[in-house]
Amino acid sequence: MRLGTPVTRLVCADDGTVVGVMLGSETLAASTVVVAAGTGSTALCASAGFVLPMVSSPSVMVRLQAPVGIVTGIVANDLFEARQSRDGMVLMPVDHDGESSMAALTRIGEAAQRLFVESFTGAAETRLVGVDIGWRPMLADGDPSVGYTGVPGLYVAVAHPGVTLASVIGDAVADEILTHETRAELALFEPR
Ligand SMILES: Cc1cc2nc3c(=O)[nH]c(=O)nc-3n(C[C@H](O)[C@H](O)[C@H](O)COP(=O)(O)OP(=O)(O)OC[C@H]3O[C@@H](n4cnc5c(N)ncnc54)[C@H](O)[C@@H]3O)c2cc1C
Repeated sequence: MRLGTPVTRLVCADDGTVVGVMLGSETLAASTVVVAAGTGSTALCASAGFVLPMVSSPSVMVRLQAPVGIVTGIVANDLFEARQSRDGMVLMPVDHDGESSMAALTRIGEAAQRLFVESFTGAAETRLVGVDIGWRPMLADGDPSVGYTGVPGLYVAVAHPGVTLASVIGDAVADEILTHETRAELALFEPR
């Protein structure tokens, strides 16, 4: 386990098979390397000669501090999406329309805060605590890319709905690699 240590490149044998990863000057050997590096996946795959056609897409991520328990589950409707964690923090992703200044992003955050306060009972005390641009790992065709690539030893697991599907994808990937049998639900998303 090397948490927080960037992989600088994939390591290939003479026949092109991926046989490990390089962490700075250290090499870790592996029979299968799973690239699940979000928007960083394209660069890692390229180091083994595999083209992962990703078109990372920006979205504005608004963070609000609201009274605990106002939003249960995920609320998604025509006007907004919102999810609240146990400490009261609310995440609201908003479409990015080219805003590049902090002032423009703050205006988006303030509009999201107003919408939130108007939409939920007991939300009057809600504060805006942050506005950032988040990059979503999107493949060119919009679908997840999960499975063995054409490069032996190289497996990818990249998806925009990767939070909601994380446990399902993780379970299917582990099963596919350990059993060497393709999982039917992943067949559609085989990397091309
Ligand atoms: C604005 C926004 C809206 C989103 N909306 C949704 C949604 O509606 N539903 C949903 O399910 N998900 C959503 N997501 C989540 C997102 O689209 C992905 O699905 C999710 O982040 C994928 O998780 P992951 O762990 O595969 O990749 P990431 O969360 O991107 O994590 C990849 C990790 O790999 C690390 N990494 C990258 N390169 C290297 C390297 N060379 N060496 C070592 N580590 C590396 C990064 O530091 C990072 O920690 C959203 C994300 C954003 C930003």
